[in-house]
Amino acid sequence: MTFAWDQPAPERKAKPSAFGLMPKDFELLGCPGRPEHVFSQLQRQWLWIDNHPFLSKEVRNWLEIHTDLSLPIVTQIFNSEDGSSKCILKLVDGEHIEVVHMPREVRTSRVTLCISSQVGCAMGCTFCATGAMGIKRNLESGEIVTQVSLLMKTLGPKAPDHLTLVFMGMGEPLHNLDHVHKAIHILSNPLGLNISSKRITVSTSGLVSGIERLAEMTPRPLLAISLNATTDEMRSASMPINRVYNLSRLRQALDRWVLKPNEKLTFEYVLMSGINDNYEDAKRLCEWLGDLRHRHNVNLIPMNEHEASDQKQPTDESLQSFSRNLRDLGCFVTVRKSRGRDIQAACGQLIRNL
Ligand code: SAH
Ligand code: SF4
Repeated sequence: MTFAWDQPAPERKAKPSAFGLMPKDFELLGCPGRPEHVFSQLQRQWLWIDNHPFLSKEVRNWLEIHTDLSLPIVTQIFNSEDGSSKCILKLVDGEHIEVVHMPREVRTSRVTLCISSQVGCAMGCTFCATGAMGIKRNLESGEIVTQVSLLMKTLGPKAPDHLTLVFMGMGEPLHNLDHVHKAIHILSNPLGLNISSKRITVSTSGLVSGIERLAEMTPRPLLAISLNATTDEMRSASMPINRVYNLSRLRQALDRWVLKPNEKLTFEYVLMSGINDNYEDAKRLCEWLGDLRHRHNVNLIPMNEHEASDQKQPTDESLQSFSRNLRDLGCFVTVRKSRGRDIQAACGQLIRNL
């Protein structure tokens, strides 16, 4: 059997985006300016200061000819009652993606940005609206980086050190690992926005080949795994990736993710009413974690209902009792407040709706 993610996703064919290049790329491509300066101006100033006074005409001409300086456009902003906002970005080729902006608390300027890695997704999880779209194409590193700078410019925060980034928007980031990793490299570069890789989380449905590659890469972000089921039968039914990398293979790959001091793995668990919310599931989940029991966080996400899936959200009682059971069994549990449900911006509701 072949799966859509066995093939690399289609790429946009164009000149490289100037915002997706590292200093060494400018050097290799023969850019006339000092590479570090050009990089830093593009990452820190370009969107904010018109006419780009700190780049010479020669460099600007070179950039026009050899790179793509176009930026996505924010076409729509939906504001949720809970303070979060969903932005629709139109990419240069007319495709659309969504980015969710979630201020942490009312009194701080800290913001979590939920960013996208692909247009659509190839993984086909049955509970997810993005999965129902199928895959259109990979985002390139510049398109990932500019989601962050454009959102900062439009909705804040002013200081990039108030940002936390999660690759939990559209797409499977490990199916687009090269661009995603390059974007993380650029975003965490001290000459750019300087967002520490400790504040960047990549969430995966369990693409083991990607987890194993990312484990060896520098900088290495934090890892979240969307678990969502505790038996192979159930997981394979809702997440086709499990037919290739089953639960024990996934668990084995995590043993090779050597945790740094204070680092934890996050396990997302979409709680679906009557499907994966009973006591046996809690028990199997803890057993599967094994010695990760001390270095993890289980993040329970109540199923967000949408047209593309029959799954139902759990009752408050079943959510509470499942989290209590997990805690009693020795797990660390948080319940994800579903942000932006009223604007279809919550987990699994991101879909190309234009
Ligand atoms: N593709 C990656 C990252 C994007 S999905 C991944 O699957 O991890 C982000 C999270 O949303 C995942 O944990 C996924 O399990 C969850 N999710 C998908 N559909 C959902 C839904 N309908 N309700 C709640 N969470 C959902
Ligand atoms: Fe893709 Fe993640 Fe949705 Fe699965 S849950 S279809 S991997 S975006």
